[in-house]
Amino acid sequence: MPKIKLHTKIIIGLVLGAIFGSIFSISGSKLEISYKSERAVIDDWTEASFIKPVWDNGVKKDSVIKSFDKSLQVSVIKYFKGLKDKKDVILKFKFADNSERQFESINSVEKVKTIGTALRPVGDIFIRLLNMIAVPLVLASLIVGAASLTDLKHVAKIGGKTLGFYALTAVVAITIGLVAANLIQPGHIMSPDSKARLMETYQDDAKVKIEQNVSMDLVTFLVNIVPKNPFKAIADGDFLQIVFFAILLGIFLMQIPPGRAKPVINFFEGVSDAMIVLVEKIMYIAPYAVFTLIAATVAEFGFDILITLFWYSITVILGLTVLTFVEYPVLLKIFTKIKIRDFFRTQKQVLAVAFSTSSSAATLPVTMDVCEKKLGVPKKIASFVLPLGTTVNMDGTALYQAVAAMFIAQVYGFDLNLTQQLTIVLTAALAAIGTAPVPGVGLLMLIIVLKSVGIPEEGIALIIGVDRILDMCRTVPNVLADSLACVVIASSEGELGKIKPDGELVYEDSAVV
Ligand code: ASP
Repeated sequence: MPKIKLHTKIIIGLVLGAIFGSIFSISGSKLEISYKSERAVIDDWTEASFIKPVWDNGVKKDSVIKSFDKSLQVSVIKYFKGLKDKKDVILKFKFADNSERQFESINSVEKVKTIGTALRPVGDIFIRLLNMIAVPLVLASLIVGAASLTDLKHVAKIGGKTLGFYALTAVVAITIGLVAANLIQPGHIMSPDSKARLMETYQDDAKVKIEQNVSMDLVTFLVNIVPKNPFKAIADGDFLQIVFFAILLGIFLMQIPPGRAKPVINFFEGVSDAMIVLVEKIMYIAPYAVFTLIAATVAEFGFDILITLFWYSITVILGLTVLTFVEYPVLLKIFTKIKIRDFFRTQKQVLAVAFSTSSSAATLPVTMDVCEKKLGVPKKIASFVLPLGTTVNMDGTALYQAVAAMFIAQVYGFDLNLTQQLTIVLTAALAAIGTAPVPGVGLLMLIIVLKSVGIPEEGIALIIGVDRILDMCRTVPNVLADSLACVVIASSEGELGKIKPDGELVYEDSAVV
């Protein structure tokens, strides 16, 4: 029997996971109530009311403190969690046939779990393993990468080209997002009813994010890139600070006598190599982990929310598709001699891991492995360009932030003029740089973009529900652009390998632009 390739297994895991998750999806209305020492599952309710007894002239009366209709399952759960005097509250359900059921002494109100989410720990272990590797790998490989470039001028040249290329792709990405949002106008298609429902369901989540009070003025942003204590930066996983420290350490290792620099470089080279070998082993569980991750996401979030936010989601996904399948191939064609098909063929594993983990940092070890072994990018370039790109280069996130800002503005009835849209280009580019390469941070940094043009921040409540799924989608171009930059820089330095039609990699200078 022919051996199935790892990336094919991962894709099979992904598809089966989506099917499994939709079969065992968590009901959007069922609630599991734990009360006294019993449990009950409530389905098909039409209204849920929280009731509190009040005393009126010595007479005990029930007073309804909050009611929710059947589409607001999540709100019921959150409202209960937020109650201070949980034990005094009664939860009463009404049903279509006018019958009622009520519960007292409630311990918890939850969604009914299914096997769709039960396997998730396998996926969590996989993500944790990749994350465990990411920080030491970024640190070690950047130190080695910077130290192996011939001199300071060489570091500045490669660094300048890399940052220039990242800036170019980000600006084009944001422009694609703005054009898509202007053409489709997703916010104008949303009904006031859906808006009210989304705001009601997600306003508490939005508040939690807004309270984190993210803000970014350029000067503070630049100052904060310098770590006060690199060990703290490593412990906190602050990638921008780690990158700054690692590049400096690499550069100044070149300035001390080779006899003393060599053991340090050898040490970090050993760390980096070991991490890459470890990734290859971890990837054996990838198909199973991807299966459980996708199954859990589909089971928990389902596709319903995608339907409510259909036009917004389509606008983001369309933008990301143009970015991935138009902008990147064009750049590949302009800057390298690699065939577009060959490039994408080598990236399957990278893309599957990015999609299922929603984390550029977790995908970095895989990206490094693939870029060196399958695309023939020399280690010194991959070790420098990829960790830098993972940290600062987030085209997908930048595009998403532009569309999200436009969408929220449209829903709130703001007409953004050209100057405001140009402000979005700038702030989204910066916000994406400041976005940590882990799940969900793009949404948090979106608040900065909204603030910059005066769009109400609480508007993020409109898009939180669909963020997990769009995060998976935007992480794909985030990592793909890093691989692209890697081959472009290697090509421009005349140091790229060539892939033969049978997939074998050969190094020859004629392949180089
Ligand atoms: N999940 C994204 C990444 O890791 C960041 C984001 O957009 O939230 O690339």
